[in-house]
Amino acid sequence: MANTIGRTKDSPQEEWLSFSNGATDLFLAVLGLSGSRLAQTQGEKRLIVWLLERDQSVLGAGTVGFDLCEMPWEIPHLQEQISFFMRVLDGVEAHLGWECLDFTPNLDFVRVGTEKFRKMLSRLKTKDLTPDALSLWMEAMEESDPVFRGFPKCPKHGIFLTVWGCYLCNRESENH
Ligand SMILES: [Zn+2]
Repeated sequence: MANTIGRTKDSPQEEWLSFSNGATDLFLAVLGLSGSRLAQTQGEKRLIVWLLERDQSVLGAGTVGFDLCEMPWEIPHLQEQISFFMRVLDGVEAHLGWECLDFTPNLDFVRVGTEKFRKMLSRLKTKDLTPDALSLWMEAMEESDPVFRGFPKCPKHGIFLTVWGCYLCNRESENH
């Protein structure tokens, strides 16, 4: 099984990032490690939390594919937020936060992931975005969601907690 990350529902297939379940887990983990260290604004933090919610240990293997247009972008700040995401990808390539991992990520997966993600981001336009993605996502949250609680981070991994807890701790408990 696999997960596909695209730009929009009808973006060309050669753009897509298609990953095995294990590679998806890894790629979201390294995005979370870098993004949680670089996010400054609420909007940047929300984008990283949204990605870390795509947690296969909770939602099931092969169910977490998504399109960039579904992410909770702030439409008036789309260009700034895309620039933020490009910095997150630079951080991934610089192995930001990897000292918190108890394994060494497969560098081929990481390189394929950052290259394709960068290309899709550079083509993402306001007209591609799902209207109200941000407000609908937030309306569906419980009051106790970490997004409403100051974006706490896991003390061990330094990544934002989601409604499902810590993306990386969830994986460690799976292996024991
Ligand atoms: Zn953790």
